[in-house]
Amino acid sequence: MTGSWEPVVGIEVHVQLATRSKIFSSTSVEFGAEPNTRANLIDLAMPGALPVLNEEVVSMAVKFGLAIDAEIAETCVFDRKNYFYPDLPKGYQISQFESPIVGRGQLPVFLEDGSVRDIGITRAHLEEDAGKSVHDRFAESTGIDLNRAGTPLLEIVTEPDMRSAAEAAACFKQLHSLVSWLGICDGNLAEGSMRCDANVSVRPVGDKTFGERTEIKNINSFRFVERALNYEIERQIDILEHGGEVVRETRQYDAGRDMTFSMRSKELSDDYRYFPDPDLLPLRLSTAFLDYVRSTMPELPQQKLERFVEDFTLVRPVAVRLTRDHDIAKFYETTVALGADPQITANWLLGEVAAALNREEKGYDDVPVSPQQLADLMKRIEDKTLSSSLAKEVFEGMWSSDKSVDEIIEDRGLRQLSDVDELRSLVESVINEHPEQVEQVRGGATKVIGYLVGQVMKTSQGKADPKKVNDLLRRLLNI
Ligand code: ADP
Ligand code: MG
Repeated sequence: MTGSWEPVVGIEVHVQLATRSKIFSSTSVEFGAEPNTRANLIDLAMPGALPVLNEEVVSMAVKFGLAIDAEIAETCVFDRKNYFYPDLPKGYQISQFESPIVGRGQLPVFLEDGSVRDIGITRAHLEEDAGKSVHDRFAESTGIDLNRAGTPLLEIVTEPDMRSAAEAAACFKQLHSLVSWLGICDGNLAEGSMRCDANVSVRPVGDKTFGERTEIKNINSFRFVERALNYEIERQIDILEHGGEVVRETRQYDAGRDMTFSMRSKELSDDYRYFPDPDLLPLRLSTAFLDYVRSTMPELPQQKLERFVEDFTLVRPVAVRLTRDHDIAKFYETTVALGADPQITANWLLGEVAAALNREEKGYDDVPVSPQQLADLMKRIEDKTLSSSLAKEVFEGMWSSDKSVDEIIEDRGLRQLSDVDELRSLVESVINEHPEQVEQVRGGATKVIGYLVGQVMKTSQGKADPKKVNDLLRRLLNI
């Protein structure tokens, strides 16, 4: 436990923008192509080749800025960040330093319990990605693949506003959900479309100043952000409690061993000799352009969440889960618009549907059941044609065929038995067959009723309405 220590975390997230072409060239951005087949003269850094800014990249960055209610710069500047590395043949990366496109903003982060934390966004700037060193293709040497060079990135920097590893993971998750929602990133963590650098320090509870921090580089999963930070927080506390000092450094997380280790120490700031790129003019954003981008903005997750709570009287944690991702929100809204009960639908989408998708490793963009089918199923639950266990059986049927709910109910004879005479005869025979349990119930062991209900459900093959059976039993046994 962290006891009397308080962790402080700020994250930097690299978001790969979902454009078709690169930030300064017309080469297509495509994952998994043969090495060096998606790199033209500009990406290869041929002398004299001039960069041309991709307008789509700009509108995506502005979309993000509008979504976090940030200041959007009227004029921003592209700088050269100079360093040498084999996968950077130009010798510099085009980035933004002093004048980023997106300034201060706020990101509401929804935690699992339904509460909200407002996390400050310091800035978000545009930059190009570097190429990749390939170490596993040749025995004696390292290969260079420049397909990734020039891929557009939006680097989002948060304030050191988080106070636990879980909060930092939630913030990364919220950013992931927001950029996917806005359609500016494909959100594919496994392919590196979002990478998180986590900065962390600890301080005695009550202290106003921050402690020395370390930075864990390039984490590409929510779970690993949380684990890496928890490890790092414990490590720093351990050092401080033994009278040591935390060294400012960059560390790497090894998921296999679940620990972080030092990559390089960082003496204050590296000298990248930033200066404005003379090949690119300062970028001025007109009011007309901003208005245009504003007009393309979708309803934001936080707005939708509030609307779900209001219109469908959902509790917050449920509304949070239903708005975490655009596809689930859309599926939910469509189903409810088709007349399904908002509560029952929420339970089903987050319960049965989620479990089935999980089992088949599918997402809400790929549900084998249509909103219409789900809405029909919800209606049959609401009108008591189906008990919840029969509904599950119908659901399985819908999952593996295109049949309508009513067809499946007819085919399988699944209609819930609620005819009183039929139920009564079932209940009577169960009473006759279980004199011992009936005796116990009459003697006051009301819990045993559950057993008798179970027997009726069994003989009816799950079709009896359990509530009616319960009522009937109580009536016939005079309790
Ligand atoms: P750098 O210049 O080294 O990149 P920044 O000031 O840009 O440093 O901060 C980088 C990230 O580190 C930001 O997300 C910020 O919130 C976070 N950060 C800064 N100071 C601390 C600290 N003492 N503890 C934890 N995180 C911090
Ligand atoms: Mg920084």
